[in-house]
Amino acid sequence: MNELVRDIPIVIEARRTRLQRLGDWMREHRGAIQAVQWLVVVFYLGLLIWPALLPLPREYAHFYENLVLFAQFLFWGLWWPFVMLSMLLLGRVWCGVFCPEGSLSEWASRHGRGGAIPRWMRWGGWPFTAFVLTTIYGQLISVYEYPKAALLILGGSTIAAMLVGFLYGRGKRVWCRHLCPANGVFSLLSRLAPVHFRVDTAAWRQASPRTPAVDCAPLVNIRDMRGNSACHMCGRCSGHRDAIVLSARAPNQEIVSLRDRDASPWDAMLLIFGLLGVATGAFQWSASPWFVQLKQGVAEWLIERDIYWPLGNDAPWWLLTHYPETNDVFTWLDGALILFYIGTTTLVIGGGLLLALRLAGWLLGRRAMPWRLAYGLTPLAGISVFLGLSALTIAFLKAERIGLTWVPGLRAVLLLVAVLWSGWLLWRLLAAEGGNAMAFNRRAIAWLCLMAATVPVLWSWVVMFYFW
Ligand code: SF4
Repeated sequence: MNELVRDIPIVIEARRTRLQRLGDWMREHRGAIQAVQWLVVVFYLGLLIWPALLPLPREYAHFYENLVLFAQFLFWGLWWPFVMLSMLLLGRVWCGVFCPEGSLSEWASRHGRGGAIPRWMRWGGWPFTAFVLTTIYGQLISVYEYPKAALLILGGSTIAAMLVGFLYGRGKRVWCRHLCPANGVFSLLSRLAPVHFRVDTAAWRQASPRTPAVDCAPLVNIRDMRGNSACHMCGRCSGHRDAIVLSARAPNQEIVSLRDRDASPWDAMLLIFGLLGVATGAFQWSASPWFVQLKQGVAEWLIERDIYWPLGNDAPWWLLTHYPETNDVFTWLDGALILFYIGTTTLVIGGGLLLALRLAGWLLGRRAMPWRLAYGLTPLAGISVFLGLSALTIAFLKAERIGLTWVPGLRAVLLLVAVLWSGWLLWRLLAAEGGNAMAFNRRAIAWLCLMAATVPVLWSWVVMFYFW
């Protein structure tokens, strides 16, 4: 009997999966995670502030020889594209374990006023609005190229995060939950991650009601958590009430099992107009020969009519790119045409996708918009953003004369994966919509409409990578 009792912990330990052990390790080693967070904070602030105080490189330099270029490579060549990729692979581990802004906001909230979250902050449109405004503003001031612009946008966001943390919540990440410009994107992409903190509701109910609550910084309603979208994967709740376990799952599971009432029009807007529209336009305008032709045409038209003020380049650097020392100065016309190019791309891509959703809804016999179907576009949106951001990485590596003959092939494979994955998800979402009663033909036509609407996205990447 005694031997049996002694062996029980060994049996239980053996039955815990590696992931479960990892989740529990994260809970038990908060100190180590916090040490990593503070290290990232120091590194992040150093790379954000220091290069902004240095002169811009006037002639060619390797990125590892010049701090301005080094910071640029780290921020935009590595950090951004691979944080996006990590969302697809690991969920929001970046947010819970590494993000300096989240750490600083939570720290400020622990020492702050502890106010209640105001109603305006709970508006569901913030993730979409903040993403769109930040992306467009970043293009106008060339955030990817200049450290002062990066300091303004990233530093401004960090100060706002700390201020919100100081004013609202008690040790919580109110900023991350409601206002962070990347929150909506991360919340969408992490739905595809093959790992999550799974909640066993039966075990939860059986646990003692006196079990102390978990200090969940992003304010997740843990008992009802059905996926990754709001969870920062910090591990603090691992093993809570013997009901929460870090587990593997099928990457499509969260989206396919999404309930109608959980589908948000704002998420759909962020996918079709934000990630597939605004972001695509923002990544592509500077490589586009159409942009150059349009600019020349409009400039000639203006000069013929003696209208010169749009060609003036007297805007300050925080409004439009203005670096005469590197011959990089935007005119008012440049600014207007960047807005026009991004706006047109957004309308063509997003408008087409919205129309296809409407048509699919009509074929399903629905009056309301089938927002749930839009989540099927998440793989396409995630891979599209990764391709756009990694174009900067490739540009850096090209400047170093590193052999990149494999890049076109890899891009083609990623585009193929994106379209097949989204196609499969859309098909499964459509199947779940109408059940068996829904005629196969209608489902197939709805699917074709939705897939046809993805063609402009694919075409825009094919043109940019293989023809321009
Ligand atoms: S639910 Fe909250 S506490 Fe649990 S892992 Fe996610 S963020 Fe951390």
